[in-house]
Amino acid sequence: RTKHIAIYGKGGIGKSTTTSNISAALAEAGHRVIQIGCDPKSDSTNTLRGGDYLPTVIDSLRDSANVKLQDVSAVGFKGVLCIEAGGPVPGVGCAGRGINAAVGLLQELNVFEEYEADYVLYDVLGDVVCGGFAVPIRDGITDRAYVVSSSDFMAIYAANNLFKAIGKYAPSGGARLGGIIGNSILPGYPESLITDFASRTGASVAGFVPRSPVVAQSELYGKTVIEANPGSEQADVYRKLAAYVAENENLSVPSPLNVTDLRDWARSWGDAINQEAASFSAAGR
Ligand code: ADP
Ligand code: SF4
Ligand code: MG
Repeated sequence: RTKHIAIYGKGGIGKSTTTSNISAALAEAGHRVIQIGCDPKSDSTNTLRGGDYLPTVIDSLRDSANVKLQDVSAVGFKGVLCIEAGGPVPGVGCAGRGINAAVGLLQELNVFEEYEADYVLYDVLGDVVCGGFAVPIRDGITDRAYVVSSSDFMAIYAANNLFKAIGKYAPSGGARLGGIIGNSILPGYPESLITDFASRTGASVAGFVPRSPVVAQSELYGKTVIEANPGSEQADVYRKLAAYVAENENLSVPSPLNVTDLRDWARSWGDAINQEAASFSAAGR
């Protein structure tokens, strides 16, 4: 049975990097993987294919009524099938409808069965403040969602918003939460902060990915870390995370904080962070 997994997070937080490395690690382990970019930026799968851009499903559907799979897909690293849903013309139309149209086309073309996919990963932009970006977790497309977050407040805020959307749609067949993926983690408080947020909201932590120059270096070659630096520690971090995401069946409906509680909680961490900053400067770092 194919597992359909959504990966959310605020813009620029590392969704595409993390998702592509998970896809690459799963493919390297012998699984059949499809990655679908659901971000109007349409660069989700670039590092699986040497950095090239793909024609998007939405643009192709706009140009022709008879779109075939080969028009909108490319086979990337170790056979990962790469697709970009695309987005509306800026200023016109709804990104959510675009995602629906893209997934509709793939279902119509029987892609998930014919490709015999073990895993389909959806890389979704969103603070999920609107119904549009909630489409992948709302309409039975996926049954599980992860959220990529750093320890920054806006990233946690977006994670909390995803929890709200999950709480709204899970009772009627929407996705449940697989966990938080902590990304760009530096030594010090960030791990504890994310762990604390998880425990307060009844979420689990799927793993922590350190901030590493190996990621940027691999990206410059148009590659995932798994492909460009397979022997690195960072590659092993992604392999471990991929195995967790592939096997985890501990799905939950988290309890988001209301905005006031979230702000109070964040402020309570401010003191701890201040102390750490003071000890850093005292040590002359
Ligand atoms: P998103 O898809 O959420 O918009 P990206 O995956 O494109 O974000 O990542 C944004 C930038 O952050 C990229 O340049 C990427 O190389 C960098 N990045 C992401 N994760 C890490 C990490 N763990 N260490 C170092 N750089 C990272
Ligand atoms: Fe954009 Fe969301 Fe509105 Fe759709 S519902 S147009 S995705 S803001
Ligand atoms: Mg992205």
